Amino acid sequence: MRYISTRGAAPTLGFSDILLAGLADDGGLYVPESWPRLAAGGTGDYVATALEVMSPFVGGAIAPGAFADMVREASATFESDEVTPLVDLGDGLHLLELFHGPTLAFKDIALQLVGRLFDHELSRRGERVTIVGATSGDTGSAAIDACRDREPMDIVILHPADRVSEVQRRQMTTVPSANVHNVAVEGTFDDCQDLVKAMFADVPFRQRMRLSAVNSINWARVMAQVVYYVVAAERLGGRHAPIAFSVPTGNFGNAFAGHVARHMGLDITQLVVGSNSNDILTRFFASGTMTLDEVVPTLSPSMDIQVSSNLERLLFELLDRDGAAVAALLDDFRATGTTALDPVLHATLGDAWSGARFHDDEVLRCIADEADRSGVVLDPHSAVGLLAARRCRRDPSVPMVALATAHPAKFPDAVESATGVRPVLPDRLGDLFERPERCTRLPNDLAAIQAHVEACVA
Ligand SMILES: *Cc1c(COP(=O)(O)O)cnc(C)c1O
Repeated sequence: MRYISTRGAAPTLGFSDILLAGLADDGGLYVPESWPRLAAGGTGDYVATALEVMSPFVGGAIAPGAFADMVREASATFESDEVTPLVDLGDGLHLLELFHGPTLAFKDIALQLVGRLFDHELSRRGERVTIVGATSGDTGSAAIDACRDREPMDIVILHPADRVSEVQRRQMTTVPSANVHNVAVEGTFDDCQDLVKAMFADVPFRQRMRLSAVNSINWARVMAQVVYYVVAAERLGGRHAPIAFSVPTGNFGNAFAGHVARHMGLDITQLVVGSNSNDILTRFFASGTMTLDEVVPTLSPSMDIQVSSNLERLLFELLDRDGAAVAALLDDFRATGTTALDPVLHATLGDAWSGARFHDDEVLRCIADEADRSGVVLDPHSAVGLLAARRCRRDPSVPMVALATAHPAKFPDAVESATGVRPVLPDRLGDLFERPERCTRLPNDLAAIQAHVEACVA
């Protein structure tokens, strides 16, 4: 399998090169040259389906036995034999729980595999990297858990000091591994992101430190997320039975994986996108116009995003894989803060996609109602997905699967204020509040951060 850039001006590469590169040289995102087709069959067994779905994307880049070991090990970090269990909510509505991994959010599904893939490929090449990233919460802990104790890498994660929840902070700072380095930046999440961008833009520094990233634009992360769409279909009537999904959305990586599953042959009749008050995506699906707005903080912080980077992959498909047209559209957006799709193209979105936005008060009411109705306790992100599933569902005879992306105990304050009951952490994280923390607090200053990264890696 070869990969091409969504902007059409970067070299075509194989799987292991796009794994390590992340972003393409022309600023675009890598996508496979063609979509493999799923065969009939599938029993709902997670590991078997994962191997079948992902192998064509990996191609010959990794020995099949080694890849199978990595998939098996990554899945084994989940505290459920089914890896991603389905919960029946009645009326043909189902919850797909994606949060049984080590850090209790769906990002573990992709990152547990990507950490192993990086380790394998870097070891094979005899290379070392320094992974740097900024986090407002979930990504940092999932990336740290995926990279801890891996010989060919250090990982440095910047988070905004005093602006992430205590659970989220402790999930990062209590990891005792020598290759894990947490930095609390005296600033906002945007400051952290700007610092990371500035470190990558400093070419001598980037080369000296061999900077790398595991962010959500990496194709390998999207690929790993296709699996649970297929697994859910297998468990609910088979790969060729109609099914619908609702996805609480931030960077659009999760939702785009559903689009890939459809390309591969699943009969997905509807993909619903749920957003919080940061609703650039739901406005885009409704109007065909993408207009930048301010980011407002909500109870679902992992979706407090305005520019959904993975949307570029959908635009590439919509524009008939014309990289120059994608680049022109995004240049227009960057320059003016707004851009509009051709109305004919926008109309083609309407059948496949729908979206709905929900404010925090509706989210809290949903968490309370669902706990009363079915006893299922949702986190605020998963509640957005379920609300959108109910609002946008078109055909009640087609099963609708709402993706549950975080464990309620990851957002205990919101859940307690909705239900009156504080959710408890699963056993394996039960002593999180007693574990010692390791973290360096630094000013929002590029030189200070760079000096610290140098010292961490030395
Ligand atoms: C990251 C995240 C999301 C958003 O996923 P995208 O792939 O960025 O759209 C939703 N919920 C939770 C809990 C997350 O951590």
